[in-house]
Amino acid sequence: MKNYLTASISASAIRHNIGVLRQRLDSGVKLCPVVKDDCYGHGMDVLYPVLSRLVDGFAVASPHEALALRRRGYKGFILCLLSAYFDELDVQDELVRQSITQTVMSRTALASIRAAAERVGGTAHVHLKVDTGMGRLGVPVSQTTDLIQSIHELTDVELTGIYTHFASADEVDKSSTLQQLDQFLSILPKSKKLMVHAANSAAAIDLPETHFNMVRLGIALYGYRPSEGLIQDVELKPCMEVEAKLIAVKHIPKGGRSGYGLTHEYTRDSRVGIVPIGYGDGYFRCLSDRAVVRIKGMDAPVCGRVSMDQMTVDITDIPAVKVGDRVEVISSDPTAPNSVENLACLAGTIPYEITCHLGHNIRHVLVD
Ligand SMILES: *Cc1c(COP(=O)(O)O)cnc(C)c1O
Repeated sequence: MKNYLTASISASAIRHNIGVLRQRLDSGVKLCPVVKDDCYGHGMDVLYPVLSRLVDGFAVASPHEALALRRRGYKGFILCLLSAYFDELDVQDELVRQSITQTVMSRTALASIRAAAERVGGTAHVHLKVDTGMGRLGVPVSQTTDLIQSIHELTDVELTGIYTHFASADEVDKSSTLQQLDQFLSILPKSKKLMVHAANSAAAIDLPETHFNMVRLGIALYGYRPSEGLIQDVELKPCMEVEAKLIAVKHIPKGGRSGYGLTHEYTRDSRVGIVPIGYGDGYFRCLSDRAVVRIKGMDAPVCGRVSMDQMTVDITDIPAVKVGDRVEVISSDPTAPNSVENLACLAGTIPYEITCHLGHNIRHVLVD
């Protein structure tokens, strides 16, 4: 962890996003935040106290993340979207002991969950994941009814929910999502007791008919639009701002160059600053010569290649910049050139990848 890089995570932005997203849900629809990969890089340590008061459970990717939430003292519903694989028998047992809801996505998964329940002498709670068209994890629609029957025949495995996942809910054209929805509806058991869920952020915002009785919200909760293709307008507030301090300031004469490969040539006498963040900290190398950071509210373009742990920015047009001055690497203003969404666009990727990569080396602090 690099103490000189700080991600300020805004509790009020998270509360705001949960508020505006809840407004779109009928009362009684549960809101389950997706907190995989350390809350998409925003930091579970800082977000847990904020989220745990406002939500109806948590969805995580790995068993390890699920068990970590129990260790924090969370007693409510936790859904594990992946399974314990292969020889992780002790992990499988612990999931049952700790009442983590596991995903059944195949007969093999069901068999190993059942074996764990038997070893532990407890009941495993499971949600069945149905592949309605994403072509990734999940039971094929044609095998769903049989598998539900098989689960009902087991005494130590209890089916408490059923779900699917959409491949392109964030696109303007919702036709494939609606086809997936039709497939899902066609196999949905009548039981009123089951938790039924399908919507990610994009579907939760654009397609109320996908809400059922729970939504799984990731990216929107953290304040970013899942894509440019959303139909509905929703006022989200990005919850993260990343800052560093300038560690050096120097002159480079006209015609001078900087960075690996000396790709950047300065066309005037210039002042540059060195910012101690690089691709090893999750600031993408493909932002070299493209992105800007902000210093004193003004744009400072990234000059030359981003290195592993530092980069050079042009401060010629910003008056009186000195070592130690604050550098806003990522802005929480969605319209700023250095917002997560704009950097994702420049890097040819999605906001998700930007925030996940920034998560690992940076100190997170909770503000407001
Ligand atoms: C990651 C994930 C989500 C959340 O998706 P967002 O687009 O971030 O809202 C929901 N469901 C599943 C199964 C996921 O893997």
